[in-house]
Amino acid sequence: MLKTRVMHIRLTNVCVICKENKQEGIHIVHAFFCANCEEEIVKSDVKTRVYDNYVKKVKTASTFLYD
Ligand SMILES: [Zn+2]
Repeated sequence: MLKTRVMHIRLTNVCVICKENKQEGIHIVHAFFCANCEEEIVKSDVKTRVYDNYVKKVKTASTFLYD
């Protein structure tokens, strides 16, 4: 008897910064940045190395994906 497996894949957009589930944002490979945080990162001064790294990753990935 043939069994059909149905997989329900739920795409959750959990922001890597604020850890909230958001509808809008960008996916950078394995990371999701909600629109809010992405804007904050882009607009605000870089305060920590973590943020600096995130910005670099976003820019690198963006260039890679959209160039
Ligand atoms: Zn966020």
